[in-house]
Amino acid sequence: MIDQFNPAVCGVCARAALGHGYAPKNASKILWVCDDPKCIQAAKAVYVMKQDQFTRIESRAAAKGGDAGIELLETIGKTDFAQLTIDEWSEFRRRIIGGYRTALANDMSGKVTL
Ligand SMILES: [Zn+2]
Repeated sequence: MIDQFNPAVCGVCARAALGHGYAPKNASKILWVCDDPKCIQAAKAVYVMKQDQFTRIESRAAAKGGDAGIELLETIGKTDFAQLTIDEWSEFRRRIIGGYRTALANDMSGKVTL
């Protein structure tokens, strides 16, 4: 589980934070985000999001990341990880992480696709 106030991680999509931040006046914590306009736009809403809602969104994003990985396996017709080439294994991991980040950013910005 990630914390949306981690200074190294975008509080919206979980990519590397790039020095953009949001905090209401007199707040003790800053919500750091990447440079994606979607993340910058969602920062204010994410800042006040309760941790349990954040956790639910993160869990859905993890499932969608897994779905993206499975979709690749179905496309290449392999289900045995030992049979994947290095490139297929790299793409599998990229799809899972990319699917997770995309779903996280979409859900955080209100574009929930259940
Ligand atoms: Zn981001």
